[in-house]
This record gives sequence, structure tokens and C-alpha cells, in this order.
Amino acid sequence: MGEANRRSASRAEILKSAKRCVYCSSTSATTIEHMPPRGMFEGKDRPSGWEFACCDRCNEGSRGSDAVAQLFALIEPISVSGWKGDQISRAMAAVRKQAPKVLSELSPLGKSRPVLLNRKGLLHEAVELKADGPATKAHLDVFAAKMAMATFATYIGRPMNMDGIIYTQWFLNRGMGQDAYHASLSIMPSFDELRQGRKTSGKQFHLHYNTDLSSLIVGLISFHGCLTVMLVASDGDEFRPTLDNMLQRMIGPHRPGSQLTEPGLPNLEFLRS
Ligand SMILES: [Zn+2]
Repeated sequence: MGEANRRSASRAEILKSAKRCVYCSSTSATTIEHMPPRGMFEGKDRPSGWEFACCDRCNEGSRGSDAVAQLFALIEPISVSGWKGDQISRAMAAVRKQAPKVLSELSPLGKSRPVLLNRKGLLHEAVELKADGPATKAHLDVFAAKMAMATFATYIGRPMNMDGIIYTQWFLNRGMGQDAYHASLSIMPSFDELRQGRKTSGKQFHLHYNTDLSSLIVGLISFHGCLTVMLVASDGDEFRPTLDNMLQRMIGPHRPGSQLTEPGLPNLEFLRS
């Protein structure tokens, strides 16, 4: 069987075995969702895996959020060239089309403040980008919630129940402190990445995680070392009250990339307004 046929067979298989959308309660899951999306990978060359049945609303409605996440995963403070430069331009065009408010929140490139950045003892001209506007947060929150539900479905083997809780926190440009990063890793002993034959996602996408294999997952996901998503997702009755209590204290202005949400991507419609 040719590669193309193998792929379409597995697509059909995924759609056939799914009872509902990986993100919401819709039983009309007729599209395939790749998480993370192909645009996150060099030349869109994405190892297979992490493909889910998804409804139209969730798949189409979160394209802008995928584009925003791709942009921040690829962009680095020091100007980049080669494949990353080209792909950043494409991600920028997608954001302009699908999430235009995000671009207006970023300091427009022409007006952004040039800074000198010390890397390995050398000073580089760099561009300071601010990413703290409400549209940027809304899109990255949707992307992070999708990532949490996709991670849950991958390791627990089913979509999250609709009464579950999801905590996510995202960090840009290595914005998570080294100490916090290593402290998080100590409670997440398992490591994974996408693998297809000899091809692996490596630095482009990898995660550390821990799960009870039944109703709880915690994870720390890195995209190109630039965008990091921390997640806690559970629909277990025994965990929810304690988690809810604990996670409520972890959201707020002191953690700007944080959110506490639920399955179903309730904010998708808000993104269009
Ligand atoms: Zn859906």
C-alpha cells in the first residue's frame, strides 16, 4: 500500500472510531485535527501521530489560534533567516487574515523598539515584541486548551468528559524561569515527542508529562524552545474539587498566560467578535 493510501486509511479509521469531537460534545466529528498543527514544523514536515476527529466548528474556528501559536513558537528575538524566516512570514500572513487583532496588539514591526540583546557575550540587534494584549491572550489560551485536550486524549485514550477542568499557562520566548521549569519536570517523569520511522519532532515539539492513565494528566510542552505550555487536565470526580481549589489560586494577573477553563472551547465565538 502506498504512503498516501496508508494515510487515508488511518484518517478513515480515526473518523470511524471516534464517537465525538476531541474538543467538544459534537458527535459530528468529520474532520481531522492535527495537534500541534503542521505549520509548527519545518517545511510543514510533521511526523504522523496526534491526529484527532474534530467537528467543523472547533477545527475551523481555531485556525486563527493555531496561526498565532505558530508565529510565537517560531519567532525569536534575534532576527532569523532560512526556513524559519520564510515560515514566520507565512504565519504572519495567516495571523493577519485569521486573527488580525493580534497583529495590531503587537508593537507594529516598523515602530517596535530595537534593543541590543546579549547572547553568548555578543550583542545582537533585536526587536522587542510585546505580546500582552487581550486578543493575543485569548488566542493563545484557546491553543493551550486544545493542546491540553489533545494531550489528554493521547495518553488517556479518549476525549475529556465535558465536566472536566483544564488549567493552562503559556510562556513566550523562554519566559518560564529555569528553576520553575526544572521544578515542573521533577513531577513529570515521562518524555515524548512525535515519531515516524527515523523522523522525530525533537526540539520542534516535545513534552514531559505525568498521568494516572485514567482521568488526570499534567504536562509541560515546548515548541522550538520559544513557546511553552504547561497544562493540567482532569475529569476525575476524585480530583476535581481539590484541583479546582488549587488551580483557582494559580490564575490571575500575576500569571498572565494562565487560564482555568473547561472542555468545549467556549471562547471560540468570542475570538471572532
Ligand atoms: Zn468540536
